[in-house]
Amino acid sequence: MIQFDQVSKRYPGGIDALKNLSFTIAAGEMVFLAGHSGAGKSTLLKLVAGIERATAGNVLVNGQNLSKLRASQLPYVRQHIGLVFQDHKILYDRSVLDNVMMPLDIIGYDRREALRRVRAALDKVGLAGKEKTAPIRLSGGEQQRLCIARAVVHRPAILLADEPSANLDRAYALDIMELFKSFHQVGVTVLISAHDETLMEDYGRRILRLREGQFAS
Ligand code: ADP
Ligand code: ADP
Repeated sequence: MIQFDQVSKRYPGGIDALKNLSFTIAAGEMVFLAGHSGAGKSTLLKLVAGIERATAGNVLVNGQNLSKLRASQLPYVRQHIGLVFQDHKILYDRSVLDNVMMPLDIIGYDRREALRRVRAALDKVGLAGKEKTAPIRLSGGEQQRLCIARAVVHRPAILLADEPSANLDRAYALDIMELFKSFHQVGVTVLISAHDETLMEDYGRRILRLREGQFAS
């Protein structure tokens, strides 16, 4: 499902964010990505999402070699991926419903089917009944759930989350982890980063540990 084959990423300016990384994540697996700030976690997730390109090596996602795809083909790959990234901001001038609807608008869904999907996603994350609420009225944990609903509303095969629990109290952070687990349980391939490894320990899942762009043992 996700395969890195000797992948390196050097940013303009000469920073080697990832150095010769190889690993495989099978379809339906839930894997954690650990490491301090600057270790390369976001970069790895951006390569999977096709937001950044590898400088060397091959990135395979869903059977496609992203390193060889043309930029114009990337949107098709992204349709199978859900992203919970910090720079994917909530639009505060729109309702909860409209925020979650956005990805379906882009794909061009039938309105009724889109509404059904949005309600199912909000229900799944525990925000049923808040469709018309202004996002600013939601708690921090609820806003994160909104971001997760928006990431899964198009039923992606792969769900990528970059430090989804970063600004939450521990109890809320663990709730968010449970939510990701529930998507894993219905077959979604899940890759989640966090700098706090204690959040991952109870899950008995594989942990990829990054340190300065390489795997630490
Ligand atoms: P993490 O998510 O683990 O905090 P990142 O992948 O964000 O790590 O960063 C890895 C390294 O790459 C850091 O040294 C960071 O400063 C650098 N970096 C990240 N993004 C860019 C960029 N767009 N341009 C230049 N350097 C970057
Ligand atoms: P269906 O079309 O099967 O009724 P829904 O769109 O109502 O599916 O979604 C069913 C639930 O599964 C929703 O809560 C949805 O968030 C969740 N889900 C999200 N992504 C996936 C996925 N890739 N595979 C399976 N279930 C998913």
